[in-house]
Amino acid sequence: MPEEGLPPAATAGPTTTATPSARATPTTVISRLPGSGSEVALTIDDGTDSAVVAAYARFARDSGVRLTFFLNAVNPSWTDNAALLRPLVESGQVQFGNHTWSHPDLRTLTDSAIATQLEKNERFVKRTYGVSTKPFLRPPYGFHDKRVDRVAADQGYPVITLWWGSLGDSAILTPAQILANAHTWLLPQRIVIGHANHPAVTEVYEQLLDLIRERRLRTVTLNDVFATGQLSPA
Ligand SMILES: [Zn+2]
Repeated sequence: MPEEGLPPAATAGPTTTATPSARATPTTVISRLPGSGSEVALTIDDGTDSAVVAAYARFARDSGVRLTFFLNAVNPSWTDNAALLRPLVESGQVQFGNHTWSHPDLRTLTDSAIATQLEKNERFVKRTYGVSTKPFLRPPYGFHDKRVDRVAADQGYPVITLWWGSLGDSAILTPAQILANAHTWLLPQRIVIGHANHPAVTEVYEQLLDLIRERRLRTVTLNDVFATGQLSPA
């Protein structure tokens, strides 16, 4: 899946919806954190491998690292690991954002099918974890357009959340390749994307922690740094 280092260029930067809808909610596209601090947001997507989701949850629990999962609830991993994840979600150390129910290219769907993809995923998270995924949407593959943005905003997702750096593990990589990507991309104020799909990343957690410490980075969830008022279009 093309969820690599940089998101599709045409979609980078803040935008506003061109076609006013009834509610006319403005859309913001983000790929970095505000300000110039020492924060990094690790955002982990999909969850096609239940053992990898479990390993990420234990990694967060044991290290204190703060994570945002952009889950597809069609994957049983988010049900399998609910007991492990729930305390982390309740404390705010782990956050969920919406990545759609089943990972389609949203540009190819009708308005109502887009809405269903978002609603169904949100309903799962609310029922299972008691929290909302709003207002953050990561469109699968980073693919979105003005129509997708408008429907998403109307559903409560005015923040299209892309990334500025990737562990590259939407493809099958070796642990060494993942670490090399981490060295390239784990930098202050970045939103970095990873995936809970392949086990290699679970072999480099200690080295990732070392890198975070060496670079004096502080991991944050998106809720930690984005107050609603900061998300109006630039
Ligand atoms: Zn994805």
